[in-house]
Amino acid sequence: MAFKNLRVVPQLIFGRGGLAQLGDVLRPHRTGPAIFLVDEVHRHRPWLSTLPVERDDRVMLVNVDVEPKTSYVDQLAAEIRHSVGTRPGAVVGIGGGSTMDIAKAVSLMLTNPGSAADYQGWDLVKHPGVYKVGVPTLAGTGAEVSRTTVLTGPTRKLGMNSDYTPFDQIILDADLCATAPRDQRFYTAMDSYIHAVEALRGTFINAFARGFAEKSRDLCREVFLGDVPQEQADEMLLTASYLGGMSIAYSQVGACHALSYGLSFVLGTRHGVGNCIVMRHLGEIYPGDVEEFERMVAHSGITLPAGVTSGVTEPEMDEMVRVSMGMVPLWENCFGPDWRVKMPPERCRSLLRRM
Ligand code: NAD
Ligand code: ZN
Repeated sequence: MAFKNLRVVPQLIFGRGGLAQLGDVLRPHRTGPAIFLVDEVHRHRPWLSTLPVERDDRVMLVNVDVEPKTSYVDQLAAEIRHSVGTRPGAVVGIGGGSTMDIAKAVSLMLTNPGSAADYQGWDLVKHPGVYKVGVPTLAGTGAEVSRTTVLTGPTRKLGMNSDYTPFDQIILDADLCATAPRDQRFYTAMDSYIHAVEALRGTFINAFARGFAEKSRDLCREVFLGDVPQEQADEMLLTASYLGGMSIAYSQVGACHALSYGLSFVLGTRHGVGNCIVMRHLGEIYPGDVEEFERMVAHSGITLPAGVTSGVTEPEMDEMVRVSMGMVPLWENCFGPDWRVKMPPERCRSLLRRM
């Protein structure tokens, strides 16, 4: 058996105001202009004018009204190639999981030919990307540490998974999360709670992944079942996100993510809220955890969308089941090698119908 040889993010800054160090971070990498890809929700933030933008650099506001598509990544990479004319020295992504994934993918598409869709899969990327920095403004996805960038392409929603995908540097600055809307903050934080639960309950679990997952889950519990002031909570959630990401990097997610991918592919449901919608219906798979999740929902005063699949047609439901069932490693982690016996398409369909 060959063990996974995990590539991790080599450099990390943690702390409020850490964004101010971005200029120092970029200095040795200024072999070409720096490209700042910033979630356009931040267009009026005071910190935007403090970014270390030099003469030929570009600040590009990215739109994440829908989660990232391969076509959008291709478009941004082409725009950069045309407007900059030379190979950029750095790409910096500042935003939630969607923006960080866009930045990772754009960095790779500046050095690899073709379309991002050509690289959806495992280890298809041939060349290292442009030096890249990730700065989360929402905590939970673990996109800041992962070796993937989740993209919706012409035929599938699948990441560009490769050793070239992780950031070279991340900056975890909780000040940037302060503006996150309450519901979105909860949904995205629950992504890391669910990463932890799915890692811990899965058959791929090992001592290394367990260490990260348990601490990630503890932090989510403290924040969403306790009474932690928001400033402190944002630092804890950035930590939980990192740990959750590290945990699944050496294990895998499970049923909740597999079903959530199906929902998202057909209905465009966002990742965080999609996971929450699915999680509450998985009491038969993750009994104690779903009960705890419900307590966090109630304690946080969140009302989750319900009945989202009620208007779904039979052909759409076929597609949802196809996409969910296609997440083979997730099901293997959840149920073991005989997962097809435990999760036949009819069971998958009946779970999805309840949502
Ligand atoms: P997001 O990036 O999609 O953002 C959600 C919303 O919050 C957007 O409207 C955004 O503009 C807004 N927002 C972000 N930060 C804000 C802030 N500080 N203040 C106000 N508004 C803010 O949300 P997310 O949950 O962080 O990311 C989900 C995405 O991450 C999905 O595309 C999913 O596929 C991806 N993902 C990637 C990985 C990975 O390993 N690469 C893992 C999990 C999820
Ligand atoms: Zn997730």
